[in-house]
Amino acid sequence: MRILIIEDDVPLADSLITSLKQAEYGVDWAKDGQEADYVLAHQDYDLIVLDLGLPKLDGFQVLKRQRERKPHSPVLVLTARDALGDRVKGLDLGADDYMTKPFELPELEARIRALLRRTSWGGKERIGLGNLSFDASGRRLYCGERAIDLSARELGIFEILLRRVGKVVSKEQLLEGLYGWEGETGDNAIEVYIHRLRKKIDGGSVSILTVRGLGYLMDAQQA
Ligand code: CA
Repeated sequence: MRILIIEDDVPLADSLITSLKQAEYGVDWAKDGQEADYVLAHQDYDLIVLDLGLPKLDGFQVLKRQRERKPHSPVLVLTARDALGDRVKGLDLGADDYMTKPFELPELEARIRALLRRTSWGGKERIGLGNLSFDASGRRLYCGERAIDLSARELGIFEILLRRVGKVVSKEQLLEGLYGWEGETGDNAIEVYIHRLRKKIDGGSVSILTVRGLGYLMDAQQA
């Protein structure tokens, strides 16, 4: 999952990025409205976290332009305390949710998970695939009733493959949707994680195929 943080408060942006990175989301950061507008015109995101008070181009303008480009891209707006008018205006412009500052990070993360569940998983609590089922809010994978223990990285990869089930996902797409590959040798590391993931879901009806030169494809065999 790929998230864009649009926030000019550097310490706040920093802590947000750190916690989302730990949750294994791919995170980009734009520190003013103009930069955000540029990035949004060139890149798709699963979720946008948008502060309204921004330099260069305010959050309302960023939202309005994004809605003209992509009416359905999920946006969570951050507003100052007591700014009821801002909240209403934000929702009128098509924000999907809002959060009032100051807030606790775990609460924002819960809102992000809820919004992603609505927008990325069609509001479903559990997504079934063959003998596996994925708890979209808790971000846990089950084989029957048994939980499969995935590392954060494996979970990130699994989510990306599950969202595009039955389709080929390139290594590039996987790298984009994850965070912090700078320290690892991208391609090889992906292979290692795919290998581990395969071992953990082995023996069931779901498999991850290598499509040579193109990427990976996850699907369930027909019974
Ligand atoms: Ca601000």
